[in-house]
Amino acid sequence: QVNFEDYEVGYDIPAAIGMDESEIQTPCLVLDLDALERNIKKMGDYAKSHGMRHRVHGKMHKSVDVALLQEKLGGSVGVCCQKVSEAEVFARGGIKDVLVSNQVTQPEKIDRLARMPKLGARTICCVDMLDNVADLSEAAQRHGTEIECLVEIDCGAGRCGVTTTPKVVELAKAIDAAPGLKFAGIQAYQGAMQHLDSYEERKSKTQIAIDMVQDAVDTLKAEGLECDIVGGGGTGSYYFESNSNVYNELQCGSYAFMDADYGRILDKDGNRIDEGEWENALFILTSVMSHAKADKAIVDAGLKAQSVDSGLPTIFGRDDVKYVKCSDEHGVVADPDAVLKVNDKLKLVPGHCDPTCNVHDWYVGVRGGKVETLWPVSARGKAY
Ligand code: PLP
Ligand code: MN
Repeated sequence: QVNFEDYEVGYDIPAAIGMDESEIQTPCLVLDLDALERNIKKMGDYAKSHGMRHRVHGKMHKSVDVALLQEKLGGSVGVCCQKVSEAEVFARGGIKDVLVSNQVTQPEKIDRLARMPKLGARTICCVDMLDNVADLSEAAQRHGTEIECLVEIDCGAGRCGVTTTPKVVELAKAIDAAPGLKFAGIQAYQGAMQHLDSYEERKSKTQIAIDMVQDAVDTLKAEGLECDIVGGGGTGSYYFESNSNVYNELQCGSYAFMDADYGRILDKDGNRIDEGEWENALFILTSVMSHAKADKAIVDAGLKAQSVDSGLPTIFGRDDVKYVKCSDEHGVVADPDAVLKVNDKLKLVPGHCDPTCNVHDWYVGVRGGKVETLWPVSARGKAY
């Protein structure tokens, strides 16, 4: 819990608890707490009703507070994250089950990973090369801890992971035989299809992953190796993994906040997923700082307030004005009818939530027009 007594509004923090929404200093991240809670509960209920555990992806929000809320309202069993430093933030913040859904290979990082169980967290990582097994084992023994390992299957993203069942079995056996390590199962996240617009295309790509995973799990079983975790799935695919009869853990991240790029993908009925399935809960609040040109307003959220790798932000609830361009500190909003005035505030839906959250220090949680809470972006900048 942060003690806000010594915090100066406008310097340390963008708003104070109890403040009116209109007084928040911009640009900053705002969370619609009602929408966030509904999203979290909805995914939690879905996972539960499909016999799935949900290990939420913490790299999206990088926030201990949001992860704890996902435990409380969504019944999540723990978090995934991508970096050891990020994992330590969650473990120190009280998350008891942390998967680094990535390879950990730098000796210094392996050392930190091996110490993580001492923070009270079950510690899991992914493996896709034999040499790494020996290094992880050596570090776990040195610290007298246990690291659980998932064998990662590359099921289409073309990044880390092995691509054949014999390779999976070889690694699983090596992990199983290594002191200080425990073979915990399979990691198989199909990252390349999550953002495809077409439901059917996402379905057929996920089916390839499901078939690969099924073959690996069956073969491991025949060799006497059980998978405690068969994990994967994101906001664009969780229904496929949940009905696969082989995956048992989901790893969704973006569903909780949503963003403009994810929002436009289509559900099985052809509707955008941000029009019914999920609600926009994350916004960049921005202010108009100049309207010196008749047909455009300049706002204070530019590149440094967001990531535009997946496209420019949209303006929530408005079709009369459009965010058309950004530079470091300026955003250009086309305003053909000159409806905006200086100091008007706009809620931007970021193009891509994860890297946008990483460039802010705080989430300002709002409910009913009032600031209810301030949460630090606890793992901000934890890229190592
Ligand atoms: N699992 C892994 C390993 C990921 O890298 C990601 C995001 O990139 C996710 C799950 C799911 O995230 P999202 O629900 O945001 O698609
Ligand atoms: Mn993302």
